[in-house]
Amino acid sequence: MTPLSSPRKCLSCRETQVLPTVLPSHIEEMEHDGRKYSVALADFRVLKCQNRGELVVDDEADEVLAKALRDAAGLLTPAEIRRSRESLGYTRQQLADSLRISMFTLSRWETGVQILQRAMDAFLRVFFRSAEARSVLGARAREDAAAATPAAAAIGF
Ligand SMILES: [Zn+2]
Repeated sequence: MTPLSSPRKCLSCRETQVLPTVLPSHIEEMEHDGRKYSVALADFRVLKCQNRGELVVDDEADEVLAKALRDAAGLLTPAEIRRSRESLGYTRQQLADSLRISMFTLSRWETGVQILQRAMDAFLRVFFRSAEARSVLGARAREDAAAATPAAAAIGF
């Protein structure tokens, strides 16, 4: 855990005395994409308001929660999305175009800023595993583009 750079505030009482604490076993009720999840966390590092004991989630705790939620929902991880895309030779732009989504959205999935919806998770899995699905979608990987452009082909893949 990296040190906290600046004092945080409790969002409910504005108390600035929030201190790091470790919760040995914590259940967080979370909602994603219309479903509720009870996520169990062991040794959850979070901040605690010294006033009434409210928990204050900092960036790291937020990342831990996001990862736990992805696990609970069985969704692709940011690393899995990036690795699958790269192993098929797609740039972010090419994959975004093939999926008919914005590159901004894809970037948010790959950096973990946004957790993808279950339908998009299923769509991505089909896309990554099925050459036929990619063909139906008219997907263009780097290799296709390279074949079409001699200059790009020279760079190799
Ligand atoms: Zn408070």
